[in-house]
Amino acid sequence: MDLFKQPELPPDTETHRTCGECRISKPLTEFYHDGKNSDGTAKYRRDCKECYNIKRKQNALIKKRKKQDEDRKLQARARGRRKR
Ligand SMILES: [Zn+2]
Repeated sequence: MDLFKQPELPPDTETHRTCGECRISKPLTEFYHDGKNSDGTAKYRRDCKECYNIKRKQNALIKKRKKQDEDRKLQARARGRRKR
């Protein structure tokens, strides 16, 4: 048994590609553009719109929490300064 072997993915086609995150074959319309190849053909992100949006939301949440943390620290510092 080879535990490290990835499950077989359906190959990318002209109209479909497999999302690197959920590993589901989806039409290209379900992927965001990511610039162009050197030969001028459109490139697509490895992850589908769904996964991209989930990740974006998670990142936004992490960023928000980080900012709240920093704000709290700044406020604590400001309060400390005011006491002096
Ligand atoms: Zn996906």
